Amino acid sequence: MIYDVIILGSGPAGLSAAIYAERARLNTLIIEEKPLSGGQILDTYEVDNYPGLPGITGFEMGQKFRSHADKMGVEVINTQVTEVRVEGDKKSIITAQGSYETKCLIIATGAKHRKLGIPGEEKLTGMGVSYCATCDGAFFRGKTVAVIGGGDVALEDALFLARGCEKVYLIHRREEFRGVRILQEKIKKTENIELVLNSNVTEIRGEGQVSSIFVHNHKEETDTELEVQGVFIAVGIEPNSGMVKNLVAQDAEGYIEAGEDTQTSIEGIFAAGDVRTKQLRQVITAAADGANAVVSAEKYLVRAEN
Ligand code: NAP
Repeated sequence: MIYDVIILGSGPAGLSAAIYAERARLNTLIIEEKPLSGGQILDTYEVDNYPGLPGITGFEMGQKFRSHADKMGVEVINTQVTEVRVEGDKKSIITAQGSYETKCLIIATGAKHRKLGIPGEEKLTGMGVSYCATCDGAFFRGKTVAVIGGGDVALEDALFLARGCEKVYLIHRREEFRGVRILQEKIKKTENIELVLNSNVTEIRGEGQVSSIFVHNHKEETDTELEVQGVFIAVGIEPNSGMVKNLVAQDAEGYIEAGEDTQTSIEGIFAAGDVRTKQLRQVITAAADGANAVVSAEKYLVRAEN
């Protein structure tokens, strides 16, 4: 059997594509690696900038998107994609559970957390080092933690952790934050968040559990050891594009090159959401990409049939 469309990933881009594809009566399959749908929003406590759903939790939003796609009748399988092969108009998706064939492929695999690559980070991951405040924050109730980064995620994580932790150090390598103003204002008003600016964490220490971090202030040229029990790393994301690494054109960081029409360098393969080159990576732009990908796929299918 050959599907009209296979969608890789079930975050906002993948689920939006699935809803549009079902409405277009395309024979559609979603392949998702993880048991839960939602992608990165599952790691977000609150999404406050999606119109009509102010303050919704990331988990609830993921569930809402998924149940909408389920209601439309989309087929979903959970398995890992290892490779994509193209033979003429046919695309074969090789997975741990066998291979699936499709006329169009929509890659909506999103992105993963970037690592810092400092001593102690790998060794203490799961032992106080975390990349997901909403998943692990509850373990640090009443404790002192550090959040590293200056983007939206770091600011949101610091605010989230400050609700339960005794103290939160927010450590950023520059003076100015990259995250939106409204979050910066909330950070400044939160008494148990201490800003540590112009600073890089150079090492995480601990035996079986994080006990301290070393911080280098490159403006003052000082080194300080801070006692913390948890370290939340929020220094950005990297695209999940490895399965098509040698197939479709990507930029230097691995984002799949595609414009608003989501068309990649290969006919019939589209990239939607955080995995593609774009200005703004948010739920709303990911959902828009999913819709655009299906419109582009429909046009491709018409061309391929004639
Ligand atoms: P981001 O916006 O790329 O920010 C990453 C932060 O980490 C930057 O402040 C960066 O510093 C810092 N950083 C990067 N590498 C570092 C290193 N090696 N050492 C120390 N610091 C480092 O990433 P993000 O916060 O994960 O957000 C990812 C995307 O999701 C963004 O597009 C964001 O807007 C979006 N997002 C949106 C929302 C929302 O709309 N509610 C919520 C969450 C995320 P510099 O500033 O110096 O580069």
